[in-house]
Amino acid sequence: MERNLAYETAKGTVILAGIFSISLAAANLTMGVFSWGFAFVLGFAVILAPRMSLALPRSKFAISFADALIFLTFLLYGGPAAVIVAASETFANCLYLRKKGFPFGPLMIPTNVSIATVSTSLTILAWDTVHLLAFRELDPRSTQALVAYLGFLALVQFATSSFIVAVFQSLKDGSNLFSTWRKDCFSSSMTQIVGAALAGLLFKLINFGDIITGGIAMAALSIAYLSYRQTIREVNEAIDQAEEAEREKAEAERDLRREAENHAAQLAISLEKEEHANIALRKSEKDFQHAALHDSLTNLANRKQLGDILRTMIHEYKVDPAATFQVLFLDISRFKNINDSLGHTFGDKVLMVAAKRFVRMLAPTDVVARIGGDEFAIILRNVATAGKAQKVARRIYDNISQPFSLSGNNITISVNIGIAPCDAEYNTPEEVLRDADIAMHYAKERNVGVAVFTKELRFRFIERVRYENDLREAIDRNELSMNYQPLVDLQDGHLLGFEALLRWNHSEFGNIPPNKFIPIAEDSGLIIPITIWILRQTCNQLAHWQTINPSYSDLIVSVNISGKHLMHGDLIADVEHALEMSKIDPSSLKLEITESTAMENADHTINVLNRLKQLGVKLSIDDFGTGYSSLSILHKLPFDSLKIDRSFVYSVGENGENSEILQTIISLAKNLKMRVIAEGIETETQLHLLQNLGCDYGQGYLLARPQTAENIDKALYEHKSWLPVALIPGSEPTAVSDDPGLAVY
Ligand code: C2E
Ligand code: MG
Ligand code: MG
Repeated sequence: MERNLAYETAKGTVILAGIFSISLAAANLTMGVFSWGFAFVLGFAVILAPRMSLALPRSKFAISFADALIFLTFLLYGGPAAVIVAASETFANCLYLRKKGFPFGPLMIPTNVSIATVSTSLTILAWDTVHLLAFRELDPRSTQALVAYLGFLALVQFATSSFIVAVFQSLKDGSNLFSTWRKDCFSSSMTQIVGAALAGLLFKLINFGDIITGGIAMAALSIAYLSYRQTIREVNEAIDQAEEAEREKAEAERDLRREAENHAAQLAISLEKEEHANIALRKSEKDFQHAALHDSLTNLANRKQLGDILRTMIHEYKVDPAATFQVLFLDISRFKNINDSLGHTFGDKVLMVAAKRFVRMLAPTDVVARIGGDEFAIILRNVATAGKAQKVARRIYDNISQPFSLSGNNITISVNIGIAPCDAEYNTPEEVLRDADIAMHYAKERNVGVAVFTKELRFRFIERVRYENDLREAIDRNELSMNYQPLVDLQDGHLLGFEALLRWNHSEFGNIPPNKFIPIAEDSGLIIPITIWILRQTCNQLAHWQTINPSYSDLIVSVNISGKHLMHGDLIADVEHALEMSKIDPSSLKLEITESTAMENADHTINVLNRLKQLGVKLSIDDFGTGYSSLSILHKLPFDSLKIDRSFVYSVGENGENSEILQTIISLAKNLKMRVIAEGIETETQLHLLQNLGCDYGQGYLLARPQTAENIDKALYEHKSWLPVALIPGSEPTAVSDDPGLAVY
């Protein structure tokens, strides 16, 4: 701030000094000055000199004619005229430069003019003071004197102007005065010297040369000047071009560098991206590997992983018999029911709960895998005997059936477990799993929960496969036939009709019990074509029986329908077809559907049963009491009658004990407006009890065994009574035949 003040003060001072100097010079102008020559010099200084200055290439200064003109003016017209020329030339030069775009700060033009004025004035003052003393001996007109004068003037002019400029510069930027002078102003001595030399030359020409010499000299000077100017312009252009080229090169290099940097940055980005992609790839590879070996729902090992592990263990066991293992095959009972009734999401949750329970109950070294929808497998490592494996399996069986609550539902699940103990005969994991599966099916069939695989089971399995194959051809081979078991009105002994029961007389193995072959027929789907055949047979048979006697026209036949047929077959069309063919009244045909089948897929069952009902056929719920009916569903199902499972009849003791369930079922049926049939009546006690409880109809060995159509035919013609008179309520007791099946009254 202070320094700026000094600078501003210096500016003001020099401007004042400039004004003073110009005024003084103007006042001291002699009349001789006002001449064409002076006007020419002044005009030259103001108009041409600024335009003619030659900037020296790569240097800070320019050769100007200003100094030459000032010195020439001094020599021709004296000091005051030189001051006027200096002031005018500087002013014109500043205006010219400003026009060209040079940025002059405030008061810089007057300052510059003043510096030129003051330094010229000081030079003249110095000259006036010293020339008489220093140059007295010299002949003023000699060249020697001229050189000395001009040399002195140039020196002083240089000293004063460069000093003032250096003072200004150091005041402005605070730099050292001497170093500023040396750096910025010293070089301007050249212009002063050149200017002085030029002035001397011109002076000589004007004063001593003739016109021709002067003209030639002027022409030579002009040519020299112009060619020098041309050269300088060319040099400058060349420099400019070189600089431009250099700039372009630098620019290109910069671009290249920038490009390289960009490339490097992009490379870094793509490397980073690649790294990310690699990480993602590695992760997805890992995930993929995990997914390939795990079950997505339970996160347990899947069939593939189980197979891999098992393959290794089979091999190890062959090498080292101490490396024992046991494989458990687990199947969740009636899981399909859960899925169908509560939805698949719920079913998934149940599977997750089951999976967690399995894992919790086992050692970390054991392997638990999910190998199918509701099928799991467990490898117990280092369990030597099947007995120990059975204990583990039993523990799992007990634990898994602990009820749990899921989304507000109380759920109980159970499993069937088959165990395959390690055996040196095994070569592949599939063999082990197949045997564990066979054992599991056995456990399920026998309702025992856990079973260990034995060769005997494999035999049974093979036998089953054989039966299945033979059953396919049983109809064509005429091996299937029907038995009919009478259904009797328990109150008056009147014959209601018959239950049609399938028989298979195998060409090699003889009679095979329905309990053995019906499940095979159901599992294989063969039950559907077989039932179509049964429907046709029985309806035709009934049509014939109904014609034997008008009193038989109301007889009915009851046909057992499998769940498979209900779910997947075209039962309605099959029934319709049988009715059409036989021409029996639809109400003469009754279809029996077991309670468990009816409950399995209640919505679908309701739908199909309603459509069957529209055909006019009768419907009966079979084996009631074993299928865990839901009362809310039961009342929606359009059953006409309810058949009590024979196990409830069987459990009635000699003195009528355990009759409560029967009583409950009968009153339930009555409430649901259904007729009640009791099956499996074998004793008179059971019959009496059922009669007393108000049971409508009955079926059982006491009344009649299932018989061939020929036997029934015969009995019908003979008007056989199916209920001994003594057993009809209200009738007189008479002797009863020993053979109830053939009893006649
Ligand atoms: P179900 O439908 O409950 O048939 C009644 C079964 O009880 C018959 O066994 C019959 O012989 C038996 N039974 C009748 N009275 C007595 C008795 O007083 N004591 C004893 N212990 N048993 C008696 P069957 O004929 O062996 O049939 C067994 C099961 O096989 C049937 O049970 C039924 O579920 C199935 N079945 C039989 N025939 C067919 C058929 O044609 N189609 C279908 N889908 N299943 C059938
Ligand atoms: Mg039945
Ligand atoms: Mg039954």
